[in-house]
Amino acid sequence: MVANTSKNKLSGEELRKQIILGVYNALRNAEITRIEFEGPEIAVYVKKPEYILDNENVVGDLARKLRKRIVLRTDPSYRKSFEATKKYLLETLPKEAGVGPGDIEFDERLGEVIILAENPNAIPYKSASFRNRILADTGWRPVVLRKPMLVSKTFRSILRKSILDSKERQRALRDAGERIFRDTLIGTRRVRVIGLGSFGEVGRSAILVDTGESRILLDAGAAPTGYGPDAFPFFEAPEFRIEDIDAVIISHAHLDHVGMLPLLFKYGYRGPVYMTAPTRDIAVLVLTDYMQLVQKEGKQPPFTQREINLMLSRTIVMPYNVVTDVAPDTKLTFANAGHILGSALVHLHIGQGLYNILYTGDIKYYRIKGDTSTRLLPPASYQFHRIETLIMESTYGATETQPRHMAEAQLIELINEAYKKGGKILIPVMAVGRGQDILVVLSRAKKEGKIPDIPVYVDGMVYEVTAIYTAYIDYLAKPIREAILQGENPFHPGNVVYVDSQARRDEAIYSSGPAIILATSGMMQGGPILEYFKHLAEDPKNILAFVSYQAPGTLGRRLLEGEREITFQENGRLRTIRVNLKIERVEGFTGHATQSELQLFLRHLTPKPRNIILNHGEPVALSTLGRIIKSKWQRLGFQSPPEILIPENLEAITLYPRHSRVHTSLLYHNPGGSG
Ligand SMILES: [Zn+2]
Ligand SMILES: [Zn+2]
Repeated sequence: MVANTSKNKLSGEELRKQIILGVYNALRNAEITRIEFEGPEIAVYVKKPEYILDNENVVGDLARKLRKRIVLRTDPSYRKSFEATKKYLLETLPKEAGVGPGDIEFDERLGEVIILAENPNAIPYKSASFRNRILADTGWRPVVLRKPMLVSKTFRSILRKSILDSKERQRALRDAGERIFRDTLIGTRRVRVIGLGSFGEVGRSAILVDTGESRILLDAGAAPTGYGPDAFPFFEAPEFRIEDIDAVIISHAHLDHVGMLPLLFKYGYRGPVYMTAPTRDIAVLVLTDYMQLVQKEGKQPPFTQREINLMLSRTIVMPYNVVTDVAPDTKLTFANAGHILGSALVHLHIGQGLYNILYTGDIKYYRIKGDTSTRLLPPASYQFHRIETLIMESTYGATETQPRHMAEAQLIELINEAYKKGGKILIPVMAVGRGQDILVVLSRAKKEGKIPDIPVYVDGMVYEVTAIYTAYIDYLAKPIREAILQGENPFHPGNVVYVDSQARRDEAIYSSGPAIILATSGMMQGGPILEYFKHLAEDPKNILAFVSYQAPGTLGRRLLEGEREITFQENGRLRTIRVNLKIERVEGFTGHATQSELQLFLRHLTPKPRNIILNHGEPVALSTLGRIIKSKWQRLGFQSPPEILIPENLEAITLYPRHSRVHTSLLYHNPGGSG
């Protein structure tokens, strides 16, 4: 066993030496030419990959022994030409995989051949012997990806970009590797958690975890309203020094968690960013869209394409349930959060087991019983090795919604009502999550003849994001995944018009007769939804149906609270619109766990944390949830009452190991309660 489990502390250099020695001893016969610390992975370049074919377990055994991830690459001299490799692959891969000559790309720097398959399951790409066979025969390490069912520009461009930027990426990975295996100075004795955003509020999520030895930022989000300084997390906090940050970890691709990530690169951050692959793809989309939207409003966006590109070149994607080093004293594991595609619970294992933190990001949890066939994602994971502190979102801490099947029925009824009146139903959706959710519900209702055959206009980024959903079907819930495997498109409710021009938008607005219109943004703070709303609001035949949370201050919330005269600025002049359409709130589709689902999650969560920090909620949601946990801890399966903390932004919580002693200035913020 090497350093990780050893009691004696090793310097970074000694640790590196030990790893290199271990690799040499195990893989000597494969003729090693180079060993690189590429971010959290150890890349071993060899001249004789065929040695691995005859000694299948050697790499796996070594990875387990060193407790490090190992990637085998070939020395460039060993690799076959592009043409020869392409020919070999097209002949070797089964026809059912649906791989054409245009679907094979090469990353020379990393020695990878990227294969886009219509049906990756026809290729045994998860088997090490298959991968080693291709590596031995061609010198290229195969990476198999699913081709999205819908044409996705983003997917291809991210692929191209990361190959083009390969040199930059490799340098970034090496820098990250150096930092991870650096000398530790003082050792980890305590952990401080400082909220830079999303504490006492929903939006601009950003949490600094400082172990004394290293500093990690969880999320870098924007507030849902406005673009001014209030939209930013408190990056000016004295504890937050950008040059000291070891890693940024992004839980998921909603703007309130990733929206200010490029800003860090503008401020000079050049370290690694960890996220899942779908989060990376969706993040590029929503960040580009956000930037363009701000520009269109004649304002200065907080970042440019340059910073998005920098971010992309520093992004290290990690799947769920794989442990990886992100700092000398911290290991990261992602697990499914059930909220949107690629959303992750973030588990940090700090100081060789000294402290374990689970950060939920945004979470969806539900009981798998009854009809769950329209559920896009499985509920969040709830089993971990250790958790001392849980940082939990509380969006619905004070709210219970109707069950999902009733929400579906209500939406279907509203669609039929609009149809009978000859009106249009306008549904504001977030491009990520709710957009796909509603498409699945509509497809199903259409299939069962519950809604009429009227056009469904889909505007905003919904289409492009849906394409990304179809590229990562392993992340989806079983029924949806199986439908796709059978060649069905579960996101397609028949008569769909993807709005990609003003002409199409006009068609949706001015065509006589009923229609369903899905448009962004979900809280009506901008995006195409506003144009539809301006034109359709005055006609009482039309319906506006809200299917997601509306943050305070947003137009959506103002309408829900009864405002019926809305003034817009148009071409420099003010125009007031009288709102006559019917406004309905359809609750129950939410991608967040509701009050009872949050409790269910706590009940199932193993092991039980000693401290629970509540964030990502309006004050009443936070205090209500805190009170519930305090009074119901026994029913939730805790052996002793957990300490509940509801800090505000910029307050620091110090967590000490062993005793559940929590040193903090904010105990008086604790909600009272009978517990
Ligand atoms: Zn979210
Ligand atoms: Zn959020």
